[in-house]
Amino acid sequence: HMGNATAKAELGRSTWKLFHTMMSRYPEQPSDDERVALAQFIHLLSRLYPCGECAEHFQTLLQKFPPQTSSRIAASQWACAIHNKVNERLGKPIFDCSDIEAKYPCGCELE
Ligand code: FAD
Repeated sequence: HMGNATAKAELGRSTWKLFHTMMSRYPEQPSDDERVALAQFIHLLSRLYPCGECAEHFQTLLQKFPPQTSSRIAASQWACAIHNKVNERLGKPIFDCSDIEAKYPCGCELE
């Protein structure tokens, strides 16, 4: 079904954009509270993501590859790797995770 596929892809692109941009701005040295917040965000996203089939697969991936919240580098590398797991399953090319944070600027550098 063409319309559904387009909407699903658009939702995916928007979500990944937010996901990776959040990781690129996650603290380099997060507090315990910030670590809990990121872990909860990821788990709630996997429960509430509007594409049910996607959410189900993502939950399985999270069990195998638990979110890494110890630093900006750990979180952004983990996010890139898990997106690559989804890419792999969908037959998409594997993305180069080197210098991943620079690939997701937020436009908020002056804050
Ligand atoms: P996307 O995968 O949306 O990526 C967008 C852009 O991000 C790419 O063009 C590239 O520039 C960059 N990128 C690619 N890989 C990475 C990476 N590893 N790290 C950082 N940046 C990268 N669709 C389904 O059909 N079935 C599913 O089960 C499914 N599960 C999903 C689960 C989640 C949690 C999310 C967020 C999306 C899911 N999707 C699923 C949607 C799917 O992942 C794509 O978003 C959608 O197919 C559009 O693909 P795209 O080729 O435009 O690139």
